[in-house]
Amino acid sequence: MFEQERSPSKKERIMVVDDQLDNLDLLSTILNLQGYKVEVFDRGKPALETAQTKPPDVMLLDISMPEMDGFEVCRRIKNHPHTKDTPIIFVSSLNEVGNKTRAFRCGGSDYITKPFQLEEVIVRVENQLQISRLKAELEAKNTRLEQELARCQIVEEKLLQLNQKLGKLATIDSLTQIANRRTFEEALIREWQRGQREKQDLSLIICDIDHFKLYNDTYGHQAGDVCLRKVAQAILNTVMRPADLVARYGGEEFVVILPQTPANNALKVAEKIRLQIEQLSLPHPQSSVSDRVSISLGVTSVVPQPKYTRKQLLFTADKALYQAKKQGRNRAVLETLES
Ligand SMILES: [Mg+2]
Repeated sequence: MFEQERSPSKKERIMVVDDQLDNLDLLSTILNLQGYKVEVFDRGKPALETAQTKPPDVMLLDISMPEMDGFEVCRRIKNHPHTKDTPIIFVSSLNEVGNKTRAFRCGGSDYITKPFQLEEVIVRVENQLQISRLKAELEAKNTRLEQELARCQIVEEKLLQLNQKLGKLATIDSLTQIANRRTFEEALIREWQRGQREKQDLSLIICDIDHFKLYNDTYGHQAGDVCLRKVAQAILNTVMRPADLVARYGGEEFVVILPQTPANNALKVAEKIRLQIEQLSLPHPQSSVSDRVSISLGVTSVVPQPKYTRKQLLFTADKALYQAKKQGRNRAVLETLES
């Protein structure tokens, strides 16, 4: 009846170790009929040596044997890296609780009491094989999951880098490598709200390179770009506090946000910028102002309040810039906001 229950194509290896030859015969016959590949040993030591070179899928192990008993075989099997996962089913006539406990403590997976029923042996062997199969499946799944996770982490990291790159592209002016207009507008909203909350002065400088069109006409657009980069960096180097923001507003126009800065200090910063550009000493022979590249600056300052708007602040800074140009360029002019 047993041979019909299993497919003989399954070639799992079962090792049977028992010093009683009739037991060995019976067990190997019945397991063979079930389609397993059976190896028999009547002593522990040779069984152990074979197992360590080629671990079986299940070991049926007698306890009372000469030379080396089943407990010792089991202990050595469980201590060896090749066989530590090999399931061991003890088969013993020693039906005392103490032995059973010891059998499980030394690493046994199951225990069959002699005289055994053949069906019980088969079911218990199949149980151990099923556990091993499930374990292997689980390990394979875990490995796959770990690989998948590692792949996800790589993708995530790449996305993060890409996002940072995109974020930078969206906030930086590609030519001058300083903040772009969008960043300026966002910062102005933020600083306006903060100024309102904290009732602190907010200053704004708008500046414009004098006669930049003539500079481009004289030296060409590539030289014009170099000039823009140098001016941008010079402004950036002059404005030192972390909360300050220097941005390219467009063309040859730059803006500086100076939070918590009263008008007179903002004017000083503007004058410093003007001087810094002068000291760049970039030749500009066509300029009517100077033979060097120069800059005009409009400065304004306000404690943000609901009665004012950001637009007014920008408009006033622009008006100051217009005044600076009107008064002969290469200078900073302060205008106060009209209430
Ligand atoms: Mg025995």
